[in-house]
Amino acid sequence: MVDEQLAARLEQVRADIADAARAAGRDAAELTTIVVTKFHPASLIRDLVALGVRDFGENRHQEAQAKAAELHDLDLRWHFVGQLQTKKARQVRRYADVIHSIDRDALVDALAEGDRVQCFVQLNLTDDPARGGVADAELEALVERVLAAPALDLLGVMAVAPLDEDPRRAFARVRAASERVRSLAPDAGAISAGMSHDFAEAIAEGATHLRIGSAITGNRPERL
Ligand SMILES: *Cc1c(COP(=O)(O)O)cnc(C)c1O
Repeated sequence: MVDEQLAARLEQVRADIADAARAAGRDAAELTTIVVTKFHPASLIRDLVALGVRDFGENRHQEAQAKAAELHDLDLRWHFVGQLQTKKARQVRRYADVIHSIDRDALVDALAEGDRVQCFVQLNLTDDPARGGVADAELEALVERVLAAPALDLLGVMAVAPLDEDPRRAFARVRAASERVRSLAPDAGAISAGMSHDFAEAIAEGATHLRIGSAITGNRPERL
């Protein structure tokens, strides 16, 4: 039987997304909610599937690979949202439908040939390179490289709001970056932004792909 608290949290988040979309004059049907299930067991994903969820996000390759293998009987869409080591990129492509964290030339080059995969270019909204993401000034060059890579299908731009900035302001910067991306690639208008505590602000600034973890899953366990 599906955990009732899980069902209630999912219902609440769906209602909050619908409210935020309405407030922004947008149609909630154009939003994709990705439930980020890192640290949670595959059984939680099965429960979420029973509640109608199909898009799942993970941020660590080994964990994601194991869950994708364990759940291969289900028709799921896997989103890799974490920092990605170049040497792991091809392995991630074997199970991931979408890679949200393309942030440097070496990753583009590793994925340029072979099986096609959808991707986002991740923009760093901080000055700290350790946070992942391409620096704002290097966005266009990276996008051009992705567009030249036959196996990469660019959906748009992804970002994580900094902890020390008003999320609405941070997501306004992402929206501006998205417009720059679209001037190079008119079809790459998607925006992957918004987590448990800031998805309403992200929706207000045009997010199309929300990556929501704890607000739906509950607190993350320490380890699997
Ligand atoms: C964990 C994670 C999320 C979800 O975070 P919550 O605060 O639990 O909603 C979203 N995006 C990325 C990149 C993450 O690593």
